[in-house]
Amino acid sequence: MEFEDRYRQGQGPKFDCLLFDLDDTLYPMSSGLAKEVLKNIGDYMVKKLGIEKEKVPALCDLLYKNYGTTMAGLRAIEYEFEYDDYHGFVHGRLPYHNLKTDPILRNLLFNMPQRKLIFTNADKNHAVKALNMLGVEDCFEGIICFETLNPSKNYEDEDEDDREINHSRNEPFDILQFSSQPSSLSQLPKTPILCKPSIDAFDEALRIANIDPQRTIFFDDSPRNILSAKRAGLHTVLVGNSVRSRGADHALKSIHNIREALPELWESEKMDETVKYPSGKVAIETPVTA
Ligand SMILES: [Mg+2]
Repeated sequence: MEFEDRYRQGQGPKFDCLLFDLDDTLYPMSSGLAKEVLKNIGDYMVKKLGIEKEKVPALCDLLYKNYGTTMAGLRAIEYEFEYDDYHGFVHGRLPYHNLKTDPILRNLLFNMPQRKLIFTNADKNHAVKALNMLGVEDCFEGIICFETLNPSKNYEDEDEDDREINHSRNEPFDILQFSSQPSSLSQLPKTPILCKPSIDAFDEALRIANIDPQRTIFFDDSPRNILSAKRAGLHTVLVGNSVRSRGADHALKSIHNIREALPELWESEKMDETVKYPSGKVAIETPVTA
C-alpha cells in the first residue's frame, strides 16, 4: 500500500494551484497604472499627511524598500490615516480604461485545470475593478488582498503595546534622518501592516487559502516578492522580464507566454483524475464576485 501511494504521488501532476500577483503581472507595465499609483501616493502624502513635497521621493523610496509598500511604511513611522481613505485616493482615480479585455489571458486561465487565486497587496476594490476590466474576474477561486491579510484594521484598532518603538502621534518618526545614521535600518520601527514581500505575509496567505507551497506556482513581476515566495517554498515565475531574478524558477516576458514556458501545466490536465485538491472550505473573505 505504501509503495502504491508513493507510485501514485510520483505519477500525479506536480502542481495543483496557481497563485498570481495582479498589477504588472496579469497586465503589462505599459498600461501606465503603476506610474499613476506612484503619483497618487505622493499627492496623498503631501495633501493628506502634510509631508513636504521635496521629501516625498526619498521617503517613498525608503519606505517601499524597507516595508514592502509605502503605506506599510507610513504606518510604521506613525502617520495616521484610514486605510480605506488611502486606498480610495491612490486607486480611485486610476485610468482603468487603459486596461483592455484580454481574451488570450482569459483563454489561458480557463484552460488550466489547477486552482487559481490572486495574491495582491492592493485593496479589494482595486483588484475587482482591474480583473473586471481585463475580463478575467470569473477565472479565479478568490482574491487574497490587503483586507484579507489585514482584516478590519485601522490605526485606531492597533494595540499600542505591539509597537516596538513608540513615538508621539503628533510627530511622525523621522525615518530620513534616522536612516542616514550608520547601521540604523535594522532598528526601524515595525509596521502593523502585513504585505508582500514579508515571509509572514506569504505564510498567512498560504494558510488562509489552504495552499501547499510545494504544489503551487507563484507569478509576480517583483523580484523581491519572487525571492520571498521561493523562501516560503513556492515554485516561482518572474513575469515581465525574460531574465530570471534570484529565486525565480522561470521568467516570462509576458503572462501570455505561460503555455510555452510551462507546458506541464496543461499536461497535468490529462491526469486530472489523480489531482488531489485540498479539502475543506477555503476561508478567503474577499471572493472575486463579492
Ligand atoms: Mg505587481
